[in-house]
Amino acid sequence: MTRAINFSAGPAALPEPVLQRAAAEMLDWHGSGMSVMEMSHRGKEYMAIHAQAEADLRELMAIPANYKVLFMQGGAIAQNAIVPMNLLRGRTSADYVHTGEWSKKSIQEAKKYCEVRIAATAEASRFTHVPPRTEWQLDPNAAYVHICANETIGGVEYHWTPDTGDVPLVADMSSNILSRPVDVSRYGLIYAGAQKNIGPAGLTIVIVRDDLIGQALPVTPSVFDYKQLADNDSMLNTPPTYAIYIAGLVFQWLKDQGGLDAMAAHNERKAALLYDFLDASSFYVSPVAKADRSRMNVPFRLKDESLDEAFLKGAQERGMVQLKGHRSVGGMRASIYNAMPIEGVQALVDYMKEFEARHG
Ligand code: PMP
Repeated sequence: MTRAINFSAGPAALPEPVLQRAAAEMLDWHGSGMSVMEMSHRGKEYMAIHAQAEADLRELMAIPANYKVLFMQGGAIAQNAIVPMNLLRGRTSADYVHTGEWSKKSIQEAKKYCEVRIAATAEASRFTHVPPRTEWQLDPNAAYVHICANETIGGVEYHWTPDTGDVPLVADMSSNILSRPVDVSRYGLIYAGAQKNIGPAGLTIVIVRDDLIGQALPVTPSVFDYKQLADNDSMLNTPPTYAIYIAGLVFQWLKDQGGLDAMAAHNERKAALLYDFLDASSFYVSPVAKADRSRMNVPFRLKDESLDEAFLKGAQERGMVQLKGHRSVGGMRASIYNAMPIEGVQALVDYMKEFEARHG
C-alpha cells in the first residue's frame, strides 16, 4: 500500500493513526459486535461516543460553559443561511467582511434573509489581504459581524481576532479550525464544515454563545434551529453518527499530539518552510500579502503558466496529488492542514526546487 502525499483542500488528508483505528474498529467497536455505522444513535454505545467527542472538542478549544456545541449537517454553505435565520433576533441587517470567494458566498446567501452591509472589502487588492480593522465601517445595530477566518481558495487568513464591541462576531472557520488555539469567548458563533481539520464531509460543527439562540425566524426548519438542536444534544434527528465518531478520533489524536498549541507550532513550521522557499524563488510567486498568508492553504503560481501541466504531472509521479489551484483562480494550491506531516511539505519543496532547476 502506498499513501499519497495529499494536498487536497477538502475533503482532505486525515491522520493515519485515525484511519488505522477506524479500520481496526470497523466490524466490532469495543466488543459491541457492531460497526459504529450500524449503531442506534440512541443506544448507550453511540451516546458515549457522541458525548466524548463533544467533551474532547470542548477541552481542545477551551470552549466556555456558556457556549453550545452543535453537530449539524448541510456543510458551511447551509450555515450561510442558518446563521441569519437564527441570529437576526429581530434586527434587520448584518455586517459582512468580504475577503474572497467564501465570504462572497456567505454574503450572497445572507441577502435572502436580511440587509447585508459590506463593512470592509479586500477587492482593491484582488482579495490578497485582510482589510485592517481600522478600515471597517461597522454598524452598531447590526445583528452580527461575519468573517471568513481563512479563505480556502485565496489563501488569506486572519491572524488576529477583530474587536466588534457588543455586536457578536461570527466566523466561518471551515478551513482553519483546530489549527491553533482561539479565544472562543471573543466570538458569538463559530462554524466549520468537517472535511478539512475535523473529519469526514457530512458533519458541520457550530459553537454558539447561549444567549444568542432561541429567537430563530419562525420559518426556520427545526433541524436548523440552534435552540432546538441544543435542547436535544444535536439529536433532533439522526446525526451523522459515523462522521462524529471519526471526528472524535481526530480530537483524541489532537490531544495525543499535545493539543492546539502543539498544532500551531507544527503548522507554523510547515507554512514557513513553503513560504520561505516561495519568497526566495524567482520561478514561483505567492500572491498573498505576507502578514495575511494562510497557514493552511498556500496558493502559488509558476511565473510561466505554460509549465503548469508539466509541474502537476511530475508531482503526481512523485505521489503528490491535488496541487491544482481552484478552478476560479488557476495556478497551484497546497493545502497543508493538521494531518499533513512536515515531511510532506519538505517533499513538495524538494520537488519544486528540482523542477525549477530543470525549467528555470
Ligand atoms: N467556507 C469555507 C471557508 C470553505 O473552505 C468551504 C469549503 N471548501 C465552505 C465554506 C463550503 O463548505 P461546505 O462544502 O462544507 O458547505
